[in-house]
Amino acid sequence: MDTILVINSGSSSIKYQVIALPGDARPVRGVLEGIGGTRAQLTHACDGRVPQVRTVDAPDHATGLDRIFALLGDPALTGTLRLRAVGHRIVHGGGAFTGPVRLDDAAIAALEALRTLAPLHNAANLAGIRAARIHLPGTPQVAVFDTAFHHDLPETARLYALPLDLQRRLGIRRYGFHGLSHQAVMLATARHLGQAAETLKLVSLHLGNGASACAIRHGRSVDTSMGYTALEGLVMGSRCGDLDPALPGLIAEVERLSGTQLSDLLNRQSGLLGLCGDNDMRRIETRMAAGDSDARRAFDLFCHRARQYVGAYFAVLGGIDALVFTGGIGEHSAAVRAAVCADLGALGLAVDPVRNATPGDGTRVISPPDTGCKILVVPADEESMIARATYDCLDGAPP
Ligand code: ADP
Repeated sequence: MDTILVINSGSSSIKYQVIALPGDARPVRGVLEGIGGTRAQLTHACDGRVPQVRTVDAPDHATGLDRIFALLGDPALTGTLRLRAVGHRIVHGGGAFTGPVRLDDAAIAALEALRTLAPLHNAANLAGIRAARIHLPGTPQVAVFDTAFHHDLPETARLYALPLDLQRRLGIRRYGFHGLSHQAVMLATARHLGQAAETLKLVSLHLGNGASACAIRHGRSVDTSMGYTALEGLVMGSRCGDLDPALPGLIAEVERLSGTQLSDLLNRQSGLLGLCGDNDMRRIETRMAAGDSDARRAFDLFCHRARQYVGAYFAVLGGIDALVFTGGIGEHSAAVRAAVCADLGALGLAVDPVRNATPGDGTRVISPPDTGCKILVVPADEESMIARATYDCLDGAPP
């Protein structure tokens, strides 16, 4: 079978999958978590074999990737998988990359230059590219961008109300992120509803550790909650999301924080974590059930902000055909979904309590059968988007 190796090299974990095209089978999948220490956990699963979980030394991404490629180089595997290409998820494509690109020296140099826009993410992404070039020389490499789905946001959603010449001079714009996820959500929803994506108006809520909302009209992103960086918008695991723009400067002055310390405060010490000491929604729900008021407050703020965006994007789109939940929290937390959608009958949105509480693996509708505006849960699957985009970049007919 023809396969694509998809590498999603993130700031603290590396996910990888071998995906067969056409057909979308996943003969190999794995994840390395806890990079940066001697006790990283590598989970590797291959069709027909017992999954392996092992503790490995992975002080940095390069070492972690060496461990992963050692497993992928197993001759018993490589004999059966005809690896056509490697597809890399790249978080920030800046203004230069508006679609998937074959990686040659010039493209890699251009990506290196974008590092400052998303220092944590793009550095990890580049480590994945470097490792794949070393371990699979001669295999085509393709970069697929999280920002690409949003690259042609309408000007009203793309610009800030800052002096125009300043924005132009500094390349400031709202880029938006999670584009691969929002695009996958759009395609899965269209398939599930039996309609073309080009006929649908959707609000997609990607609720995970990182979280963003996207307004999608007829196949295109027309607004999204993350902006120049992935800090704007919803309340996240440890990121604050929307703030009064005067606050960071004020806090830095009063608390005497450097730029790095301020960035750390807003990105790593805020959000759910800053509000209640936990960034894991499962633990927050458990604490809430035990009557913990800090956990309840964090949960309420998280859901309140998501509701605000649903309402805002309903207005941006002039009504919607479906609201879609994805990401770890969006897929698994019935309580969050119920809270985000509570009392939205005036917008034609209602959650069916039984459907919402019934766990499921695939795409499913959680609104009552007779409602015009559907609410769906779609499992996040950025990897299939990356595999398809990678295949489409190769010479020869796509499957
Ligand atoms: P990332 O942005 O790192 O990819 P994920 O999409 O994996 O994050 O989402 C992680 C979040 O999903 C965590 O807050 C986790 O608690 C939450 N989550 C996972 N499973 C459940 C569940 N069954 N109920 C509630 N929250 C869950």
